Amino acid sequence: MSAVITREGGERSRATVLVVEDEAHIAAGLKLNLELDGYRVVLARSLREAAAQLLEAAPIDLILLDVMLPDGESYGFCKQLRDSGQYLPVIMLTARSAAEERVRGLDSGADDYMPKPFVLSELLARVRSALRRSGWRQQDAPADETNRGKLRFGSAEIDFDTHSVTAAGKPVRMTQLELDLLYYFSQNAGRVLSRDELLERVWKLRNAPNTRSVDNFIARLRRYFEPLPDKPVHFVSHRGAGYKFLPAGDPGKA
Ligand code: CA
Repeated sequence: MSAVITREGGERSRATVLVVEDEAHIAAGLKLNLELDGYRVVLARSLREAAAQLLEAAPIDLILLDVMLPDGESYGFCKQLRDSGQYLPVIMLTARSAAEERVRGLDSGADDYMPKPFVLSELLARVRSALRRSGWRQQDAPADETNRGKLRFGSAEIDFDTHSVTAAGKPVRMTQLELDLLYYFSQNAGRVLSRDELLERVWKLRNAPNTRSVDNFIARLRRYFEPLPDKPVHFVSHRGAGYKFLPAGDPGKA
């Protein structure tokens, strides 16, 4: 593998970096330079926003995590990630250079540590290195990711490879995560999928605390594809269990 993470192959092959930093000029500088290096970048200004982005912008491949944030220090956040089985690389950014603080960061599960002010080229090298060590998404990228083919149900036509989506003949703009979710449903049609399974298989999050995010995404799929989003026949709820995708519609509600 080259020193630079593979960028060819479009959006999907780019690693996504979550930058958690409350100082706007630092966040903007990191975003610009990471994007120039070929990464997709999402920003969070607090621990609360970071937790939301882990769900909303998933899958995240690496986190740059400032220590002092408006809603607290990030050691606990990092430890929670590890306790819940998330092993993505975390590099902590901190103004503190005292050895005990470095130790505290590493003890909480961070992989690496950059004291501020940092040299940008060194930080970017550490990002590349951390992603290489983590075997960047090798275990997560299904072999069929670039050859998923087409899906038709109801009035919807989806080409997963070209991202071309129409419903009732009208184009629908879907995010990669929405497409990934729809693809997972299509591969498991007729089976009840729990929120935990969806978070683990689509979001790549294990034991995620906030399963409401799944419901929000189901609501979006219903808005795109259900003739009557309030009376869904394709993305059907099973109370307390999860959701089932029925390409032909729910015969009980037809
Ligand atoms: Ca800060």
